[in-house]
Amino acid sequence: MAIQRTFSIIKPDATARNLTGAINTKLEAAGLRIVAQKRIHLSLAQAQAFYAVHSERPFFGELTEFMSSAPIVAQVLEGEDAILKNREVMGATNPADAADGTIRKEFALSLGENSIHGSDAPETAAEEIAYFFSGLDLVG
Ligand code: ATP
Ligand code: MG
Repeated sequence: MAIQRTFSIIKPDATARNLTGAINTKLEAAGLRIVAQKRIHLSLAQAQAFYAVHSERPFFGELTEFMSSAPIVAQVLEGEDAILKNREVMGATNPADAADGTIRKEFALSLGENSIHGSDAPETAAEEIAYFFSGLDLVG
């Protein structure tokens, strides 16, 4: 498998509890390299645009209000098979279903406040990276 890039967000519940370093330690231990990173506070409109794919889902309001409630850390991760590897380290969306040792098992508070986002496919990874970063920001 070739080197890939994926997009990651450390969510507001995790930045609020000062878990950025603990989460990134797990990502780096899995072989993922942080090649771009910024801490920002999304507006509600920015969160709605990022999660537009979920706009018809019943949890859209809750999700976008949460994601704009406090700072996030947006980052680009690089490594072998990075998209799948990142999803494995993150664990299942609902922490109650997440495997031992995963980020969501260890840190997530609930299905909504689940500490981390990761792209689910190459196309979404490219779109999500471009939403937050320019090519000049990616420093491998
Ligand atoms: P993410 O996209 O954040 O990496 P995911 O791909 O595991 O997570 P999605 O199905 O894309 O999960 O849902 C996006 C996010 O919406 C979830 O991470 C979670 O925070 C929130 N979410 C999903 N389902 C629910 C729900 N039923 N109730 C509340 N929030 C939800
Ligand atoms: Mg998703």
